[in-house]
Amino acid sequence: MTDNNTIIELKSISKSFDGATMVIDNLNLEIKKGEFVTLLGPSGCGKTTILRMIGGFETPTKGQIFLDGQDISKLPPNKRPINTVFQKYALFPSMNIYDNIAFGLKIKKLDKKTIDEKVKRALEIVDLEGFEKRGVATLSGGQQQRIAIARAIVNEPEILLLDEPLGALDYKMRKEMQLELKEMHRELGITFIFVTHDQEEALTMSDKIVVMADGKIQQVGTPEEIYDTPSNVFVADFIGESNIFNGKMTGSGKVRFCDTEFECVDDYPVGTKIEAMVRPENVHLVPPAEGMLTGEVYSSIFKGIYYEILIMHGKNEFTAQSQKEIPAGTEVGISIDPDGIHVVPYNINKNHYTGIIDDELKIRFVDFSVKIDVAKLFDGVTEKDGVLCDSKGEVIDTEGVKVDAYFEPGVADLSDSPEDGIVAGHIISIIYKGDHYSYIVRSRNDKDYYVDDDWLWNIGDYVSVIVPEDKIEYKLIG
Ligand code: ATP
Repeated sequence: MTDNNTIIELKSISKSFDGATMVIDNLNLEIKKGEFVTLLGPSGCGKTTILRMIGGFETPTKGQIFLDGQDISKLPPNKRPINTVFQKYALFPSMNIYDNIAFGLKIKKLDKKTIDEKVKRALEIVDLEGFEKRGVATLSGGQQQRIAIARAIVNEPEILLLDEPLGALDYKMRKEMQLELKEMHRELGITFIFVTHDQEEALTMSDKIVVMADGKIQQVGTPEEIYDTPSNVFVADFIGESNIFNGKMTGSGKVRFCDTEFECVDDYPVGTKIEAMVRPENVHLVPPAEGMLTGEVYSSIFKGIYYEILIMHGKNEFTAQSQKEIPAGTEVGISIDPDGIHVVPYNINKNHYTGIIDDELKIRFVDFSVKIDVAKLFDGVTEKDGVLCDSKGEVIDTEGVKVDAYFEPGVADLSDSPEDGIVAGHIISIIYKGDHYSYIVRSRNDKDYYVDDDWLWNIGDYVSVIVPEDKIEYKLIG
């Protein structure tokens, strides 16, 4: 529910370009006054599109955008109290700094004295006092970006949109500008909506992070919430490092993965299939006799303030951190505290597809069709001469009856020959699960197939999904 503190509300927003695939899919988001909100996600997930819709440079295909409770979906950009800073600074090279910043104010026909004061104040905020007469070409990248920010804030917007504004800066300058932007946010007290694909940047700067993938919000939370309690394996994998394993609840606050039972703080019914996430800093290395499980170190990589230690426990790989180098081949114990394990139930909607029975008793799904003994799906029904009959021999009409097909991700395999499997598509997601990779393959009809495979493929590979016929479970729907 919207409260008085909400400045921007996106309500059921969808966006497609030229009627093609939805780039943003029924997205809802509230942004509070004065917040530093970061939209974070991999390239192409729709961050810039959201920003452009808030700025008024794109119109939503569906849904509404509210600013202070007023629908602004159709308002042009210059009528919104919003300014944007882009990755490319887009300063006017022929004008000096004063004229660059004053440009919008002159168009608004403000008097010279007011413009002078506002430009001076904007330069103070970006820490470039006295730069009025300098030419654009004499400034460093970081200074130019600060001028671009000064030019945006001189209009005193209620909201500042920042689209990867630090993307073009080198690492050191970027770090410096992160802190400065945060300071400017504090000083101005306005709402900042920031776009980045850099998770470290998002964690450092934001009050609230919106993690996105594929045009959808995966999680909204403070940096701590996103890091400590990721809502799914995508978030855990995208933000920082994570050990991710498949497992099962074995008792109240008890979970089993990597052939070991652990205590955990999350609770789900016994038997629930889960995904367990453990940050490397929560994998404690202890003498083998004191470990909950043991393993053998196979690499120790210096990372500046710690060593990243990779340990094999049977077929499962753990990543841990250590202050000291531990030589490959060392036997170590692994201990994980209950609050170091974050458990989420395995998404049971994975790999369920709805098909319909046709007049030839084939089941047609969006991407594939199968010919199975359809009679088996019904009680007391047999097939005779290509039609289904009940126990009295009466023909029953099954055309159009819906069927759910399901297969476990682990029974499927990937192949690079498109005709090998039931469906072909591109790999859109890879998550490492300790002893295998978990893939999402998206078909050209936009259906997702989850496959666990030992082999490493790449994002974007065109593969087919092979599922043994007897491993697909069919059930009537309704
Ligand atoms: P990046 O970090 O690479 O900028 P992003 O998360 O900001 O990515 P968007 O720029 O919002 O992603 O793009 C989301 C999707 O929409 C992409 O698949 C992109 O190709 C598509 N898209 C964006 N603008 C247009 C457009 N004007 N016409 C057609 N497709 C577009």
